[in-house]
Amino acid sequence: MLNQDHDLTRHADNVVIVGGGLAGLFCALKLAPRPVTVISAAPLGQGASTAWAQGGIAAAVAEGDSAEAHAADTVAVGAGLVDEAVALGLAREAGARIRDLLHYGVPFDRDLEGKLAVAREAAHSARRIVHVRGDMAGKAIMSALIEAVRSTPSIRVLEGYVAEALLTWDGAVAGLQLRQVGDAAAKPVTVASRAVVLATGGIGHLYAVTTNPPEASGLGLAIAARAGAVIADPEFVQFHPTAIMVGRDPAPLATEALRGEGATLINDKGERFMLARHKLAELAPRDIVARGVFAEIAAGHGAFLDAREALGAHFAEKFPTVHANCMVAGIDPAKQPIPVAPAAHYHMGGIAVDHHGRTSLKGLWAGGEVSSTGAHGANRLASNSLLEAVVYAARIAEDINGSTIAASAHPPAAPIISRNCAMPPITERNLRAMMTTHIGVIRDDDRLAEAVRSFAAIERDTGNIALRNMATTALLVATSAWTRCESRGAHYRADYPTERPALAHRTMTTLVAARDIAASLSERAPARTAQPMIV
Ligand SMILES: Cc1cc2nc3c(=O)[nH]c(=O)nc-3n(C[C@H](O)[C@H](O)[C@H](O)COP(=O)(O)OP(=O)(O)OC[C@H]3O[C@@H](n4cnc5c(N)ncnc54)[C@H](O)[C@@H]3O)c2cc1C
Repeated sequence: MLNQDHDLTRHADNVVIVGGGLAGLFCALKLAPRPVTVISAAPLGQGASTAWAQGGIAAAVAEGDSAEAHAADTVAVGAGLVDEAVALGLAREAGARIRDLLHYGVPFDRDLEGKLAVAREAAHSARRIVHVRGDMAGKAIMSALIEAVRSTPSIRVLEGYVAEALLTWDGAVAGLQLRQVGDAAAKPVTVASRAVVLATGGIGHLYAVTTNPPEASGLGLAIAARAGAVIADPEFVQFHPTAIMVGRDPAPLATEALRGEGATLINDKGERFMLARHKLAELAPRDIVARGVFAEIAAGHGAFLDAREALGAHFAEKFPTVHANCMVAGIDPAKQPIPVAPAAHYHMGGIAVDHHGRTSLKGLWAGGEVSSTGAHGANRLASNSLLEAVVYAARIAEDINGSTIAASAHPPAAPIISRNCAMPPITERNLRAMMTTHIGVIRDDDRLAEAVRSFAAIERDTGNIALRNMATTALLVATSAWTRCESRGAHYRADYPTERPALAHRTMTTLVAARDIAASLSERAPARTAQPMIV
């Protein structure tokens, strides 16, 4: 329940941050002592991808490495769509943000000389991933930041509320509509604010096979799009090649760092299938490895991550999280190959933002995975997302601190939808299954068109606001994937398998444009009934 302390309408000049992951918490800390309210769907520490990060943060802090080399690697992986100035800006600010995290108490690993220890990850030309106790970076970052947030008096935290709509007035943000999580009968609550920061994370849970927590179901992107914000590059979804397939939702992850340490990908005949696919084999860019794993599974050969030789008895000590996840499922990764499959993992697209994290809507900022800064292009370089979250969270705080935020002149509009009938699990399951089969690792015109028509119908007709928000984001991903008639980075079209130079530009779209595409497709008869693809 919202008690008087939580009555945000009494603090209408407050900054409201939606999201309690790295981007949201870091932004709140950087804004201190300015009063801010952080709203998080899940209790802090839960429901945030940040807590699950295993690799660490990319930062060119080692001797011989440079921001320029880091930016060049980022640009190379992004398949022609990375904004080079953005990539360089990120790389240059990495050292300062790592120092901030150290100041907040994150215990990054150090070498024998006391310098930050750095690991290697796929497609990085240098060892530059700062980490904590092997694969514990996410947990350690979250627990340090939560402690710092809890002991900062200017930060109020409101847990267990989901933001389900952005309220606008005269083209600017005026507040939010919230609802208590887990109570289908709960009435919506409106809060007034002229400065809202969305830091709601990714969209992975829109997919049936994902590494993301349930809260990462694209709601932040949806509410911004529904309020009219421009959305960038929604079609670019990164699939992690090595989710551990032990029947769990979300699927636990076998971090990229395992391949960095020499673990190989084999099929059920013990063959290293990536050798024939790319000169970097297992360390090739993620999309290529994901398609390799996908193809091997589709061909009925299975795919396994084999760390027996590379790590053997050191597995548990070096990768405790992965080790624990395998052991729970009865697999000893020191002695057995781990069954893996590609899973929706990271969204390169999101709410379009500028260098300050400002969106196209006045009073709305976005940071972390929900945003699209141009840093990742068509494919993200490993461990650049935590870096982007922390760099943009700091920039947003600086921008807000330098702005005059007017107190709300008008009360927020009446709630947009008051109905919130319990979401039928089957509908959510169908939507997630369709995302995986129709907008997954390999896409084509027929499946994409079918998905667009389905999501547009849900978005238009459902009376359930949570489902409508999921369908909104799904529709944006599907229409942009249908429109991009080429293969680039993580977006692979079986019917257009090559890159087309004329399409080497970012997608900028809106919900209105997505609905127009859906309307044009609804007039086109389905060419055939698309067969589901099993990932
Ligand atoms: C398993 C895994 C491993 C990863 N490993 C790495 C890595 O090693 N290095 C790296 O750079 N990146 C990694 N990533 C990606 C990285 O973790 C994320 O991109 C990053 O943590 C996103 O941070 P964020 O603050 O934007 O979102 P999150 O950390 O996901 O936080 C989102 C917050 O928003 C809340 N929320 C969501 N919707 C709403 C709503 N509507 N209303 C209220 N609250 C809401 C959630 O409860 C949560 O508190 C990994 C991701 C996964 C899933």
